[in-house]
Amino acid sequence: IKKIAVLTSGGDSPGMNAAIRSVVRTCAYHKIECVGVYRGYEGLIEGDFKEMNARSVRGIINKGGTILKSARSKEFRTVEGRQKAHEALKKAGVEGLVVIGGDGSFTGALIFNQEFGFPVMGIPGTIDNDIFGTSHTLGFDTALNTVVEAIDKIRDTASSHNRLFFIEVMGRDVGHIALNAGIAGGAEEILIPEEDLGLDRLVDSLNKSRTSGKSSSIVIVAEGDKIGKNIFELKDYVDQNMEGYDVRVSVLGHMQRGGAPSCFDRVLASRMGVKAVESMLGGETNFMVGLMNGKMLLTPLDKAIKGKTKINLELLRVSDIMST
Ligand code: ATP
Repeated sequence: IKKIAVLTSGGDSPGMNAAIRSVVRTCAYHKIECVGVYRGYEGLIEGDFKEMNARSVRGIINKGGTILKSARSKEFRTVEGRQKAHEALKKAGVEGLVVIGGDGSFTGALIFNQEFGFPVMGIPGTIDNDIFGTSHTLGFDTALNTVVEAIDKIRDTASSHNRLFFIEVMGRDVGHIALNAGIAGGAEEILIPEEDLGLDRLVDSLNKSRTSGKSSSIVIVAEGDKIGKNIFELKDYVDQNMEGYDVRVSVLGHMQRGGAPSCFDRVLASRMGVKAVESMLGGETNFMVGLMNGKMLLTPLDKAIKGKTKINLELLRVSDIMST
């Protein structure tokens, strides 16, 4: 392989820029060419490429978002679209593709490889931490820090007014952000899709916490949790079935996806970029790089896509004990 392309696809996450930088610099280190592809698979189809060298990625390790922009591409879901992408890559002399994104982006990459035999390598970039084959996805740690900072601030106002706050956090169908940030932010309850607490037990538990002398309560609700139809209905239910608290809702939203990546995410991104490029140069294809037990390793893309992440039961127990 003499030339590698890198793109970011799907939802953005903090650390994507650090990963782009790492891919570009690892290519430079090994004296191979590197091109950046703008707007994910959209730009791949259009041939929207830019030659990149070690200096093109200066000053971005600390920036959120992605300098290459991200997109969702309908056309790449079609054979014709992927055919165009393949032609664009061939025309530019590219021989390998690094895809930074989530499982949807990996599915596209895998299909692309199966159709054209084109070498692909995935770097997991999403704040949700919902990808099998890595203990941490890029952006997860930064999002956690952002959420904890927000919880701390909401706690200040909650305790001044004897309020009960429901705070909705991102995470799609999994509760990793909710569970970790909930413990770190001292939440009284954490509602995650993996565990159904039930409305009655929630009200019981909040009543207990109020009578035990707490001046405020914070409940972290994962966006994928199904206890109420949505967080506002949950609030209404608790309002009607509990006394003594002024109940409020705060939906943190997209601020969770932005911001400067944490030290952890910058280091992780740097390691993932090196591993992705060097694995590809070593002849590996159709893998995702990941962090497991402190080491960088490869997981076949199809396993990364289909595998389910598990919630850490020990963390669940810690959170129960902490809310005593
Ligand atoms: P996020 O964490 O935001 O969900 P993602 O990578 O899973 O990230 P998706 O929107 O699911 O985001 O996928 C990104 C892009 O990957 C899609 O817009 C599409 O172009 C491509 N893609 C996804 N699934 C397929 C598929 N089955 N076939 C071809 N391309 C696909």
